[in-house]
Amino acid sequence: MDKNDFESLKIEYYKNVNLSDYCTWRSGCNVSYIFYPKNTNELKTLLSLKSKKYIVGNGSNTLFISLKDTIVISTKKMKSIIFENEILKVECGASLSLVMSKCLNNGLVGFEFSTGIPGTIGGALITNAGANGGTISDNLISVSLIDKDKEVELTKEEIKFEYRKSSIKPSQVITSAKFKLIKGDVVKAKENINSYLKHRNKTQPVKLPSAGSVFRNPLPKFAGQIIEDLGLKGLSEGDAEVSRLHANYIVNKGNANPDEIFLLIEKIRKEVLQKKGINLLNEVKIVNEK
Ligand SMILES: Cc1cc2nc3c(=O)[nH]c(=O)nc-3n(C[C@H](O)[C@H](O)[C@H](O)COP(=O)(O)OP(=O)(O)OC[C@H]3O[C@@H](n4cnc5c(N)ncnc54)[C@H](O)[C@@H]3O)c2cc1C
Repeated sequence: MDKNDFESLKIEYYKNVNLSDYCTWRSGCNVSYIFYPKNTNELKTLLSLKSKKYIVGNGSNTLFISLKDTIVISTKKMKSIIFENEILKVECGASLSLVMSKCLNNGLVGFEFSTGIPGTIGGALITNAGANGGTISDNLISVSLIDKDKEVELTKEEIKFEYRKSSIKPSQVITSAKFKLIKGDVVKAKENINSYLKHRNKTQPVKLPSAGSVFRNPLPKFAGQIIEDLGLKGLSEGDAEVSRLHANYIVNKGNANPDEIFLLIEKIRKEVLQKKGINLLNEVKIVNEK
């Protein structure tokens, strides 16, 4: 399809945008087109285009270094949240924080684990996001997705979830998911949320732009501890800095560009490999079409 024809699709889009505004690192490359489908049909139309596509939720686990002919599809307008008794059906672009607060308003508990994770349902399912002793897959029933132009619903048992990993393939695009929650003690749940937030605010650099943990933990070891032990806190590349509070975070102190963030990631990886013999794997997704 000719680029000019994108505009005839009648799907909300923006042209020539800088992706700094679409990711929590506040640092990103430019893209020619970003689309905002508002339902599964619009998403299907976009996925059937010949161009390469990259799906973004809240961009809280993504570093956009360079995109060539790829179009970006934001899921943020697909955010309906529907309750049927204790079953929750939620679209891919709904934020975890909104889902959690709606659950509590409905007297349902089980989503508090997500306190402080600034992602969407779709992004969270891809990495089996988790914190505070729980993960997104714990109360999951099924995931609906588009796979080669077909809509399919996979049960939780048909998907393999591991630590910060799921078997959902890059070619599969999540449209919605179902969860089973329980009626519970909302007051207690809110107390837990407050204590999770207090802990996060004390131990993580929440006031500066970042993408959370850069590396997956090489369990039972912790990437942050390894990086700290090597004295790398404060190491910087331009305005990108290894957080002085939590060494597995790289913060943007102002105008870090994506190349600087990437350089810093690679410096840390090299140092850890040389000095500790551990090959750290990225938790963040790196988009680089250079
Ligand atoms: C301050 C901070 C704290 C964080 N704390 C945690 C934490 O405690 N635990 C944790 O697990 N993570 C944490 N994260 C990382 C991040 O928030 C999570 O990984 C989150 O689930 C990512 O969601 P997102 O919508 O932002 O994903 P994005 O960054 O937008 O996307 C991530 C990946 O998912 C894909 N994707 C997104 N939506 C879809 C879809 N609908 N279908 C198919 N693929 C899709 C993207 O293409 C990309 O590959 C933190 C991040 C920050 C900035």
